[in-house]
Amino acid sequence: MIPIKDITNYLEQWAPLCYQEDYDNSGLLVGDPHQTVTGVLICLDVTEAVIEEAVHTGCNLIIAHHPLIFPAIKNITKSTHKGRCIMQAIKHDITIYAMHTNLDNVATGINGHMATRLNLQQQCVLQPKSSTLQRLTVYVPLASVDVVRDALHAAGAGNIGNYTHCSFRTTGTGTFQPNDVANPTIGHKGTLEQVEEYKLEVIFPTYLSKHIIQAMQKAHPYEEVAYLIQPLGNQNHQVGGGMIGDLETALDTHAFLVYLKDTMQLQHIRHSVPNHNNIKRVALCGGAGISLLPEALKNGADAFITADVKYHNFCDAAEKILLVDIGHYESEVGMKQLLHSNLSEQYKTIRLLISQSTSNPVCYFC
Ligand SMILES: [Zn+2]
Repeated sequence: MIPIKDITNYLEQWAPLCYQEDYDNSGLLVGDPHQTVTGVLICLDVTEAVIEEAVHTGCNLIIAHHPLIFPAIKNITKSTHKGRCIMQAIKHDITIYAMHTNLDNVATGINGHMATRLNLQQQCVLQPKSSTLQRLTVYVPLASVDVVRDALHAAGAGNIGNYTHCSFRTTGTGTFQPNDVANPTIGHKGTLEQVEEYKLEVIFPTYLSKHIIQAMQKAHPYEEVAYLIQPLGNQNHQVGGGMIGDLETALDTHAFLVYLKDTMQLQHIRHSVPNHNNIKRVALCGGAGISLLPEALKNGADAFITADVKYHNFCDAAEKILLVDIGHYESEVGMKQLLHSNLSEQYKTIRLLISQSTSNPVCYFC
């Protein structure tokens, strides 16, 4: 008996909603997250065929990449595709949840998945986000520092890149004077105290702020905990747009395009005029990622893979980089397998289905 909310909470630990772009509408879109899940259907786009599939397979949770309600809609009627989808979902008690740019923007999301499929080495986020991290400084009596530090780490603080349990401490003297109604752990009411303390510092993602402070206060022995939180301008290398990495061996343009076509199971590839350089360093961004082309160039990429590329983008890229358009749907459809693998590991008893409906609105005539 697992509530839908349990699954969406898990998904938001993986790809927090605060990492979605400002214009986006990821998260719960339709339905009641408190009902028990009967099955999960994973799709790229919510269509009427997908809703029908959910009804037939007994799944009451649809997880999609593209939000059904995006941009905002003003009415829900049978006259529009979106209206019919929403009405059918509500009629059949189906919850619709979207993981869009928040899944794009985590290193283990859609772009990381594509980079791994292409076996790119030394993968890094192409354009890391700033202002997603904070620093906590807390003053702790010597005997309690390990307890407080462990509680902070358990709550998600102290992760930097591939390193966990990162912290820093210095010693000094804290002073305080409890008033008449205070209940001091150390010292006496009305007496000025001097106590040897550690100044303990950790870094953490902003969205965990409330959780981290609660954990710190629970573990700390003082009635009033002296602490401060400061926003950091540091880049967060686990969060941001696109990915970049190196092929194991450099390939000429033709061999690279064949490799890409085979690995991503593509029917068609559009690409800029080859500049005869070998391809070793590859940047990529699923969906419409052309805005990251300058980052790809700046980071020394030989090729940039994305979708929805316009004629003039190809003109701009000529001679500088191999710009490759593999199609919007084709670049993102791997999210179905990614979600399925991730949820299968976490939930052994829930039915997890990949939608069999093909929602690619683009057809190719050969
Ligand atoms: Zn997309």
